[in-house]
Amino acid sequence: DTIGRNLGRAVDAFPEREALVDVPSGRRWTYAEFGAAVDELAKALLGSGVAKGDRVGIWAINCPEWVLVQYATARIGAIMVNINPAYRAHELAYVLDQAGISLLIASLVHKTSDYRALVGQVRGRCPALRAVHYIGDPSWDELLAAAGGVGDAELAAREAELSCDDPVNIQYTSGTTGFPKGATLSHHNILNNGYFVGEMIGYTEQDRVCLPVPFYHCFGMVMGNLGAISHGACIVIPAPSFDPAATLRAVAEERCTSLYGVPTMFIAELNLPDFATYELSSLRTGIMAGSPCPVEVMKRVVAEMNMAEVSICYGMTETSPVSTQTRRDDDLERRTGTVGRALPHIEVKVVDPVTGVTLPRGEAGELCTRGYGVMLGYWDEPAKTAEVIDAGRWMHTGDLAVIREDGYAQIVGRIKDMIIRGGENVYPREIEEFLYSHPKVADVQVVGVPDERYGEEILACVIPRDPADPPTLDDIAGYCRDELAHYKIPRRLEILEGFPMTVSGKVRKVELRERYA
Ligand code: ATP
Ligand code: MG
Repeated sequence: DTIGRNLGRAVDAFPEREALVDVPSGRRWTYAEFGAAVDELAKALLGSGVAKGDRVGIWAINCPEWVLVQYATARIGAIMVNINPAYRAHELAYVLDQAGISLLIASLVHKTSDYRALVGQVRGRCPALRAVHYIGDPSWDELLAAAGGVGDAELAAREAELSCDDPVNIQYTSGTTGFPKGATLSHHNILNNGYFVGEMIGYTEQDRVCLPVPFYHCFGMVMGNLGAISHGACIVIPAPSFDPAATLRAVAEERCTSLYGVPTMFIAELNLPDFATYELSSLRTGIMAGSPCPVEVMKRVVAEMNMAEVSICYGMTETSPVSTQTRRDDDLERRTGTVGRALPHIEVKVVDPVTGVTLPRGEAGELCTRGYGVMLGYWDEPAKTAEVIDAGRWMHTGDLAVIREDGYAQIVGRIKDMIIRGGENVYPREIEEFLYSHPKVADVQVVGVPDERYGEEILACVIPRDPADPPTLDDIAGYCRDELAHYKIPRRLEILEGFPMTVSGKVRKVELRERYA
């Protein structure tokens, strides 16, 4: 169905239950109030002349208006375009222009970015952009005022025109491996994905879902917002952008049952000096996704954060996003050793990256997925779409994986991250997993850097536990010597305070590679 009609059913079923809580501002909406606020904004957009298929940009940090815009645009058949809150002028101009955005809704400020000044800088370059409204500014009230002349019948008539196969959203990929690509997604794509991810976790209207992950990314807006609302659960916003202490405070105060994060977020929460003082007994589940989770971290999440049912998801923006997920009754081995098995109605297979031949279970190759989640295509880039979706409608993920005998998938790494040292294929993940157990290592990334003799050499980038006492290359290499094959032992070491990250919380290995090449 469409996202708007799906919301309508939750409003009818649970009018008095909470739908949305913004902890920083203390604002709260029941389903009845949330539905009414969505309708008002939808009418305002209609009154501002937004036609079916028009692109409406959202360039904002996490806030309740973000969720209202998500649902209001869906109700009127506009295509919402998520814009990365970390973007500056050049990148903003690219997205505005690439997606042909006619109306932009933006935050006022975020960290060091003055959004109004940045929009001013690029406006002349973006002829399609005809209106900009800032959240928490008189221009937002001006937008809402446009609802005045629009009646319920007009809104209902627009919604009646919509099909679940209409595009509803352009989501840009994280840009971990290169320039972000705009995945065009339909109601059918993302509503089903949010719904099934919620089903696997067992969401009901009793659940309260804490979302420190950015809404601009599919993790927040599909697995979070759509996953919660399609089951009548409540969305809790702990902070405008990730803040480990604010997150745990929100879980405690709002009695959240579920918490989301990429592994680096959970690591930051577990490492808070006052971690033990947060009351986390309400937690039961959550989702960890986006990048590989170190086993040690997973054990602590289960034992110390009460998240016995925490779910691991694997997916990508282009597949709405989730393709595989662990199940509620999976044991720790499956939660730590795999990324789960295919969601209902989704197929997965592993192929030889060179020949395309399907490989038997247990062998590593490129993971391909097929089903309702596969995007309509990259926005306005049919050639790039054809590179990743084949004639059989399989999405080629660019990830190396093994599907085990029991159907559970293991991600070996990205094809682009694989290091080829002296003809041997080396998977950084294996070395990282091993180095996490070194007492002086807080976090580590392994990348390949060009080397005259071996083609590529192995570099370990380490964030030390104690900055005053970092490990040396001898410490690291010596630690690996009896445990790993000689060609996997790092020959170079860099000690860092932090890694270059995407806004969705992933390490940009490509940047480390370039920096130390
Ligand atoms: P870009 O495509 O722009 O380089 P990206 O691939 O990081 O960026 P996303 O769509 O946000 O953009 O992320 C999808 C990728 O994240 C997957 O292809 C996979 O490499 C990685 N990933 C997702 N979930 C997991 C997981 N549970 N374990 C390991 N890797 C994961
Ligand atoms: Mg990708």
